Amino acid sequence: MRNRAYVALGANLGDPQAMVRAGIAALDSLPLTRLQAASSLYLTAPVGLLDQPDFVNAVAAVETGLEAEALLAALLDLEQARGRVRSVANAPRTLDLDLLLYNDQVLNSPRLTLPHPRLHLRAFVLAPLAEIAPDLQLPGRGSLAAWLPAVATQQIRRLPC
Ligand code: ADP
Ligand code: MG
Repeated sequence: MRNRAYVALGANLGDPQAMVRAGIAALDSLPLTRLQAASSLYLTAPVGLLDQPDFVNAVAAVETGLEAEALLAALLDLEQARGRVRSVANAPRTLDLDLLLYNDQVLNSPRLTLPHPRLHLRAFVLAPLAEIAPDLQLPGRGSLAAWLPAVATQQIRRLPC
């Protein structure tokens, strides 16, 4: 256990709020893994491919005994189990799970990039992350708080609990 990881969740098909809540709960059932904290849910306008429903996004913190690559594999299995169909980039999805951070690990392997390469550019990741870890340092990129002003113009709305 002892490894701290942050996971981003996103969904925009079916009942996306229920899907994200179920995704958060499912993190606690991964092998050797315990859910430590979860953000509020956020409603987000789609990025890239604009003609699709709004997304619901959230971020969760877990403590895990899985190595980073094993944790990512478990997250991708969870996506599959929830019925995600991969098509084009930025396409609608029932559940997307991204590994944002794993301890302070910096990694560029064919399957896994840490920190997640777009985490510091996305309000729908930074805002929920700041909610559960306001003092977080992003390995190689300074403090989370310093990145927040740069994404302040992106439209996201925190949903009532
Ligand atoms: P995106 O989330 O960017 O829309 P996908 O969810 O389809 O894209 O992910 C595509 C691939 O990205 C995954 O198969 C995975 O191997 C790779 N990947 C690399 N780094 C990460 C990471 N930190 N978190 C999640 N996936 C990652
Ligand atoms: Mg993904």
